[in-house]
Formats: sequence, structure tokens, C-alpha cells
Amino acid sequence: MALLETDGILDTLARLPNAPASIDAIRAVHSASYVEQIRALCQPIDASSAKPVSAATAQDAGAMWLDPDTYLFGASYEAALRAAGGLLQLTDAVMTGQAANGFSMNRPPGHHARPHSAKGFCLFGNVAVAARHAQEQHGARRVLIVDFDVHHGNGTEEMFYDDPTVLFISIHQYPHYPFSGGMDDCGSAAGEGFNVNIPLPDGVGDAGYLAAVQQLVAPLAQEFAPDVIFLSAGYDGHWMDPLSGHRLSVSGYAALVQELFTLAESLCGGRLICALEGGYDLNALPHCILSTLRVLSHSPSPVSDPFGAVEERSDAADKVIAAAKRRLGIR
Ligand SMILES: [Zn+2]
Repeated sequence: MALLETDGILDTLARLPNAPASIDAIRAVHSASYVEQIRALCQPIDASSAKPVSAATAQDAGAMWLDPDTYLFGASYEAALRAAGGLLQLTDAVMTGQAANGFSMNRPPGHHARPHSAKGFCLFGNVAVAARHAQEQHGARRVLIVDFDVHHGNGTEEMFYDDPTVLFISIHQYPHYPFSGGMDDCGSAAGEGFNVNIPLPDGVGDAGYLAAVQQLVAPLAQEFAPDVIFLSAGYDGHWMDPLSGHRLSVSGYAALVQELFTLAESLCGGRLICALEGGYDLNALPHCILSTLRVLSHSPSPVSDPFGAVEERSDAADKVIAAAKRRLGIR
């Protein structure tokens, strides 16, 4: 927020009010028992009275650990409802034409959360919740979700695995956390072919991701003809990020967003709804978000990249992309 305020871009953008998501909206992709579990664990609000649920992490007084990465405090339930709720407000604005596109700077992120459990810093699957909301409240028939977070979007995948109305495409480092996301996992039943994993090896950098978007995401999106595109925008593939080895740059992320923005303009009236997922280098992350906002608002100079790029293994993605093309029947 400090960078966005200094830059002045916030003065040019509409800011939407935040409200907690309704329980019904969350239950569209999560089980009622899981939502109730999170609610109950977050009572009372006083975090000092909370008991750690794992002996291994008992030293973290005041936090309850749901898995080795994912903790709760007393206010986490409301925070998670508001993370999804902010994205729902944005979805309403875009689907009703009040906004052309938008970005939700939500925390916690969502794409690892599973239907019945939390995972990888995520409590509720924000983008999945919003995708269902776009269908149920705004009549969207086909929803495309692109996930360029460096980690596989296992939660989103699981929620729509048998659903042909939601095409989910995840580009991620592989093998890497959460150790799912292989190319063979392509959906089941009626959803077969509507789950696409693009698992890229270490170090592919900007060129690898751009090739994946141009050569795989673009033709798949054109064939699918979505009514709206959601972007699970994780920036943890940046070369300064401590949690990955994909070596992207801020400029590289801006180019990816530009590609997806152009696709949205040609396929679905520009309806591109972005939600923050990962991003753990706090110097790089603000510039990634600023550059994304500049792309979304047609800035003539979208890139704000004081860090530059590093050497990448630009051919490392070629084999995977070629294999994916064969499997998906893309010439
Ligand atoms: Zn991530």
C-alpha cells in the first residue's frame, strides 16, 4: 500500500468496500463442517487463550496450527471471510459492468485450501468461491481460472476437478510444494480435459512462463470461450522470492498479465478478475502488484521494476510445453 500510495496509482482507481463473504458463498466450494470448524476454532477472539493443536508447534503460543504451514488466530475466520468477500465485491463490480476489471489484494491467499481442510497458508479458496459466485449470481456459464502462482493450485483443482464449466489452468514449479500438479491430472468424469497442469522445471524464468501462456493458455482459452477470466496472481516465482526457483522478474509478470488481459479483451469483454495468492519477497511483491495494476488500467508504461532480471534457463520449459501440446492436441 505504501508503494501504491507513493506512486499515485490509487488516485486513478476505484476502491471497493470490503464485506465478509456470506457463509453460503463459502459453502459453495467448502463443506459446511469445515467452515464450522474454522469458525469454532477462532472463538473466542482473544488469541491468547487459543491452544496450539499440534504439539510440534506448541512453541508458537497463541497460534493454532492446522498444518505445518497454516495457522489460525482468533481473528482469522473473519479475515478469511473478508479475503473472499473483497473478491466477491470485485466480482460483482466486474460482472455488472461497474468495473472493467480489477485486483483483490487479499490475505490470506486461497488456492491451496481444500474442500474439507486448510492447507499452505490458505483457509478458504477465494478464487474458487468467486468463480462459483460468478456462475450462480451472475449467470456466467464458462469460467476460466489461470493460476500463475509458482505453486500448484491444488485446492482450486480439487474443487472443480469433475466440472466442465470451469477450466482450470495452473502453471507452476514442479516438483515443488504441494507436490501435486502433474500433467496427467487432467480432470475426471465430465470434467476430463478441463483441468490443465503445466508443471515447469526449476529456473524457467520469464521466457518459460510467457511461452506457456502464449502457446498453451491462449489456444485453450480461445477454444473454451469463457465468460470471465480469474487470475490466481501469485508472485512467488520472482527471482528474489525465498520460496521458489523459477526466476521470474517484475517485467516478466507484467508481460504475463498483459497477455491474459489481451485474451480477456478478445474473449470476454475484458473481464479479468485478479486475486493475490503467494508472494513472499516484500520488496518485489509491491512492484509486481503495481505493474499488474498499471497493465489493468492501460498505463502507457506498465512496468515498475527496480530489480531487473536474472539469468534463466530459457529452454528448460520447451520439453514440457511440447509434451503438453501433444497431450492437449494443440498444433
Ligand atoms: Zn505460491
